[in-house]
Amino acid sequence: MNDFQILGLRTELLQAVSELGYQTPTAIQARAIPILLSGRDMMGQAQTGTGKTAAFALPILNGLDLDLVGVQALVLTPTRELADQVAHAIHEYGQHRQVRVLPVYGGQSYSRQISRLQRGVHVVVGTPGRLLDLLGQGVLNLSSLRFLVLDEADEMLNMGFIEDVEAILSQTPTARQTALFSATLPEPIRRLSDRYLREPELVVTSSTRLTVDQTEQRQYLVSESDKLAALLRLLEMEEGIRNILNFVRTKIGAGALAEALLERGVQADALHGDLTQPMRETVLRRFRDETLPVMVATDVAARGLDIDDISHVINYDVPLDSEAYVHRIGRTGRAGRTGVAITLVTPQERWRMDRIERFTKQAIARATLPGKADVLNRRKERFLSRLSDRFTPELVDDERRMVERLVEAGYDPADIAAAALRLAREGERQWAVDEISEIREPARREVTARRTGRRDSRADGRRRQRARSRCEAGMVRISINLGKEQGIRPGDVVGAIANEAGIPGKAIGAIDIQRQQTFFDVVDQHAERVLQGAGRWKLRGQPVMLKCVD
Ligand code: AMP
Repeated sequence: MNDFQILGLRTELLQAVSELGYQTPTAIQARAIPILLSGRDMMGQAQTGTGKTAAFALPILNGLDLDLVGVQALVLTPTRELADQVAHAIHEYGQHRQVRVLPVYGGQSYSRQISRLQRGVHVVVGTPGRLLDLLGQGVLNLSSLRFLVLDEADEMLNMGFIEDVEAILSQTPTARQTALFSATLPEPIRRLSDRYLREPELVVTSSTRLTVDQTEQRQYLVSESDKLAALLRLLEMEEGIRNILNFVRTKIGAGALAEALLERGVQADALHGDLTQPMRETVLRRFRDETLPVMVATDVAARGLDIDDISHVINYDVPLDSEAYVHRIGRTGRAGRTGVAITLVTPQERWRMDRIERFTKQAIARATLPGKADVLNRRKERFLSRLSDRFTPELVDDERRMVERLVEAGYDPADIAAAALRLAREGERQWAVDEISEIREPARREVTARRTGRRDSRADGRRRQRARSRCEAGMVRISINLGKEQGIRPGDVVGAIANEAGIPGKAIGAIDIQRQQTFFDVVDQHAERVLQGAGRWKLRGQPVMLKCVD
């Protein structure tokens, strides 16, 4: 007996679900499956990890007519990984119905996709760009479409796919059934729903995942320049590490941090939007296999990832909005396991953490970084435990004979052992011995001064002050006279500035694109060169004016 039975699904699907070990429908499944089985449209607020894939996949699979040729169901996803995961899940749920599912996204060979489409598939799961291409080439025909799902609609919006999504929607039969899933329901998503869904049922599941309760949350106050050292300390000191997902704000930050960790002997790699598909898959496989203990990811790259067993989520940068925080930490403490979520907070970012605490209605413990002595002690303990693993006489036969020779030559056995330990420890990582001594208490005065400044500032100066207060230590904040309305995207800012000023892309930090202007941080030493370019070059066809905000 299985709780899915009362939902009225076909036996082939119940069998598949039960083989996967699902016994009880999750909240979103219990609400969404009956609605979708009845043929109505729905809009669901649910995040990855809540079981939303089965919530739409099972009703679709239930309704497919396997004798019909032509694509009957289409699922749009923002990322390739999510397309793969959803296609894989549909394949698994549909295994006893011989359902043919095809994932399509950029980076795959067209010819394979086209020949699979020509041979006939029931369900297509894909990213908007490639789907539009295939529609444009006339190889994807949606005239038999009956089910359409927009998965992670807010993410498609954030990634600028909404026009593509609408172009695809306009090529589907109006008589289709449509489901929209989104972690958040901002105004543009509601407008999309108004235009393309017919009297949808709204299903809202709690935005804070239940599993967050299983997660221990801590925050550490640290200066921007000490973040790496702080992270290294934590990597050494945390208990129960299996694998760590480390979030950063920008893809440049992701690459730079992974590199910095590697240089210090920590196996780490970055997951961000610029990787080719095979590269992404390799990073993910290594992380899943636990041969890669630390993965550094941006929010966008980590969306839709279905990795259950993450022991630690570390916010190397405080996320820009509170929902992103909940999203990030929801990746640990899953499936009944406990997890740890750590956030490094610079003095300038404390207001963001306050806002997150208000949003999650939870206090996030303020913890103190382990000290240098703690780290050195931990290293000693670890060394001694590794040493005691070798206390197997047959493994150290040769070494024992060496000791006997030294004893015969008149050395004291304790002195020999101490010298041997010394020699062995010389080969240990030395990085943090220097770096861990450098962590300073963040300057609290600086925070107070900035806070006071903000309160005192006049109305027209407030925005400048806000922009300034967000600037990272060691960086200068610069404004550009162009923003979202002029079509500016983060990639433009990094690419154009790095090229025009001849500075490395990683010298550019946080980017804040507003309606008609953009702010970005650049490392102190390069600021002058960047500013010299003011008025000399163009972005999106318009002359660029640059001003230092500080
Ligand atoms: P999703 O939110 O669709 O990405 O699903 C998250 C994870 O939960 C996946 O690993 C699913 O296999 C699993 N899952 C989905 N529904 C259930 C269920 N009813 N019982 C147990 N696990 C489930």
